[in-house]
Amino acid sequence: MTVVRAIIGFTVAVSVLTFIAFFGRTPAFRNTPIGFCHRLLVHRIPSALRALDVFLTNGRITSGGSRLGHHLMNEKHPVVMIFFLGLITVSASLLVPTVWNLLPFHHKLLVAILLPQPYYFTYLCAKRNPETVVTEMNHAAHMRHYPYDRILFYPGNVCRTCKFNKPARSKHCSVCKACVSRADHHCVWVNNCLGRGNHKWFLTLLLSTAILLAYGAYLAYFALSPKVHKQYARYESWYRFKPSPGSNPSSWTTYGEKKLHYFLTYVSIYIDAGGISAAGVGLLALLTWPLPLGLLIYHLYLIYAGMTTNESSKWADWADEIADGKVFLGKRKPETMRDYRPRGADLHDSTQSSSATPIPTPPETPPEEEEPPTTWPLESRHILVRTTNGQPPTKLPPRIKSVADKESFERVWDLAAVENVYDLGFWDTLLEILLH
Ligand SMILES: [Zn+2]
Ligand SMILES: [Zn+2]
Repeated sequence: MTVVRAIIGFTVAVSVLTFIAFFGRTPAFRNTPIGFCHRLLVHRIPSALRALDVFLTNGRITSGGSRLGHHLMNEKHPVVMIFFLGLITVSASLLVPTVWNLLPFHHKLLVAILLPQPYYFTYLCAKRNPETVVTEMNHAAHMRHYPYDRILFYPGNVCRTCKFNKPARSKHCSVCKACVSRADHHCVWVNNCLGRGNHKWFLTLLLSTAILLAYGAYLAYFALSPKVHKQYARYESWYRFKPSPGSNPSSWTTYGEKKLHYFLTYVSIYIDAGGISAAGVGLLALLTWPLPLGLLIYHLYLIYAGMTTNESSKWADWADEIADGKVFLGKRKPETMRDYRPRGADLHDSTQSSSATPIPTPPETPPEEEEPPTTWPLESRHILVRTTNGQPPTKLPPRIKSVADKESFERVWDLAAVENVYDLGFWDTLLEILLH
């Protein structure tokens, strides 16, 4: 029984840590104990250990380790991906041969269909995709996918590494060393950035992994149940009990203890019957299958909200500042919007003088190469401005002044009042991701 407790405790601890690693960084958990644990694990404990090492050995222990840590955190490497696929491979090679002969044909067929899927979708996520990575060659095409909303993304921001205007919704990834179109996040599990072109494969990877793990847990249960039921009949009379209704609270502790003992006995019978190869893998699958499912649900929520993971943290920043009462919502001048502009009016002379000279009066709209017309069906009508003193903006920066109706700024107290131009509604946003 002690071994069973240790196995369950270890598996639960691994699941909790993986959950924190999966979700701790997401803005939804920023102000929750999960976010706190993530900061504790990733920042506070390592920096406290480093400070202790500096105090004790002048930093000798961590200087070697930090180079490795820096490499693991900041360079592209497949260590986590190998760990993930290795875990599936080892688990499958333990479970499948043990239960194979007990399975009817349709389950064998299902194993053959479900097992290769995580490998295939990981490959599709990990391979270099011209739809995802913005290069000199495809830059013009990427500029035409999404409009600048002037809330999260502004035209005219040049990527210092790639030396071109950042397309709206893109982000430069310091690990991939490239600008990523409709950037979602850099995923260490697939050793690549997820964005336009491969986000859909990430969603299918999460779905297929969740199904495979749930199915693995079910297979172990299915194959071991006949054996277990035989042995369980012997134990049943020992642990048969009924909670006494209306009993005093102290007896509920006894009830809980009995229930736990009952559960542990059941698990230990499974481990007796199937060993680590079937019962252990089944238990691990049972405890870990909610992780990819939870992450998939989180991504579906983001799709429902019309944002990427990268954008969700930008919106969370705005929400914090809105709560402080320092954000003002303004309207765009209709004549500066592409849809309203008469044909031919967008031909400005865009030759820029050197940055040392004062910036000339900005044109009504940015030049074509900074903000070309896009294929996106919506155009932003709102502009958000934060002020440091909490007073309405008196002097607007040139890039806002040129397109904003100066008289329209009003304090905003709710993020829901701000238009998200990238939100097409759940189904259309999902479709856009699945098609691109
Ligand atoms: Zn870049
Ligand atoms: Zn990346």
